[in-house]
Amino acid sequence: MDSTPLETDYLVIGTGATAMAFVDTLLDEQSNATVLMVDRLHRPGGHWNHAYPWVRVHQPSAWYGVASRELASGEKDKVGLNAGLYSMASGAEVLAHFDQVMQQRFLPSGRVRWLPMTDYQAGTDGAHRVASVVGGVVQTVHVRRKVVDGTHARTEVPATHRPRYTVAPGVDCIPINDLASLSRPHAHYTVVGSGKTGIDACLWLLAHGVAPSRIRWIMPRDAWFMDRANFQPGLENFERNMGYSLNQFGAIVEAATPADLFARLEAKGALVRLDPKVEPTTYRCGTVSRDELALLRGIADVVRLGRLQAIEPTRIVLDKAALPANLDTLYVDCSASAIQPLPGLPVFDGARINLLMVRFCQPLFSAALIAFVESHVEDDAARNALCAVVPSPEVPRDWMRMWAASLANAARWRQHPTLNAWLMKCRLNGQSVMARGVLPEDNARIALLHQTGAKAGEAAARLPALLAMLS
Ligand SMILES: Cc1cc2nc3c(=O)[nH]c(=O)nc-3n(C[C@H](O)[C@H](O)[C@H](O)COP(=O)(O)OP(=O)(O)OC[C@H]3O[C@@H](n4cnc5c(N)ncnc54)[C@H](O)[C@@H]3O)c2cc1C
Repeated sequence: MDSTPLETDYLVIGTGATAMAFVDTLLDEQSNATVLMVDRLHRPGGHWNHAYPWVRVHQPSAWYGVASRELASGEKDKVGLNAGLYSMASGAEVLAHFDQVMQQRFLPSGRVRWLPMTDYQAGTDGAHRVASVVGGVVQTVHVRRKVVDGTHARTEVPATHRPRYTVAPGVDCIPINDLASLSRPHAHYTVVGSGKTGIDACLWLLAHGVAPSRIRWIMPRDAWFMDRANFQPGLENFERNMGYSLNQFGAIVEAATPADLFARLEAKGALVRLDPKVEPTTYRCGTVSRDELALLRGIADVVRLGRLQAIEPTRIVLDKAALPANLDTLYVDCSASAIQPLPGLPVFDGARINLLMVRFCQPLFSAALIAFVESHVEDDAARNALCAVVPSPEVPRDWMRMWAASLANAARWRQHPTLNAWLMKCRLNGQSVMARGVLPEDNARIALLHQTGAKAGEAAARLPALLAMLS
């Protein structure tokens, strides 16, 4: 134990993507504040450190990373399943981005101190302590302003998560990360998990010459996905982006019931699903391209019998039935749940700031906006009024709950001139990125922007009634 206390204005727990986005904006908006960042990991980027080698962000990189520097190359993919759409940064690029932000911006500022391989521990006495994972040194931190909790995502990825099903001795079962280290073909491959990671495993197998007939896909729950082509940066995509928003808001306004809403969203191409005959029971902000979807639909052996309970050498046991299995099967675990329910806390909580989402599927933009609000708005009630928490997505009704909270926040942001001015120039604000380049004299596009804003207002007014039908 080292009794030398540390001192800081802000103690930030975590150097994951949200914590990095928060500190980046805080440094710009407060000229003197000092920050101490601690993380158990050796490198910034949080869960991206554990991701599979071919992982990519699944939204355009144009609004991922920190606000002060671009992550995107500005290039479109020319080949592959994302061809024609703006490229999505690889995991390595995401990690390089955050490492450069730390090394080239945060540390040289002289205002950020970074303790990697360091565990934050809240003392029962209310004290804040940080413990070096390697050296064992424990130090108390005197926090002059606030503790910022960047750990609420509790992101689970297969490499760090133990599957909940049992695996009999002799069965080959690997996390998705280990696919890239395979040294021999297997007769069959079974992908366990129906989320974005499961999709990436299936696409990887197909891309490496495994015929669809050799793949079994365990799908406990079907999901609604967003078609990535609907939200792309670049002025050439302006009409399609606005059309996408109008379609979503229009569907909300016109829907008679929640079921009718999802039917309309699908009919307008705003949401897509793997099998049009199967009703999705989950929504996780996942995105796909139409080409990816077409390829995935070639896998016929999709098992919808609940969660996997056990893998035995020649059979698998699921919630609802047991099925025979080929002895030479490689099981690919993709069952970790990347997104966890949020803790039911406000963003601004006295001496604590919780980095939670304040806009639909945008955790990094949310963190940057929270830093701006912390720096420019006086009391917690006013801050929380601008930063009502947007629930994390799990089931389809969360699509509505997320929009209800996001639209209410956006309406309040528009009433705040300083925040509004920041929003117009913030590169993490997907809406301003999509409208970038629209000239004041471009009457047609300006009219479309106004039309979308008006429809958003109508949708915000209609959502409570639709949500009430579910209670
Ligand atoms: C494969 C994948 C792709 C994704 N793609 C996108 C995308 O395209 N767009 C998008 O917006 N979102 C995407 N997401 C969602 C993603 O969760 C967020 O974008 C973001 O990376 C979450 O970052 P975070 O900092 O909140 O959490 P984390 O990455 O989980 O970081 C939390 C950090 O806190 C540290 N920590 C926790 N407890 C302690 C403690 N007591 N002491 C010290 N350190 C601690 C952890 O070590 C970790 O580094 C994706 C998620 C996954 C899994």
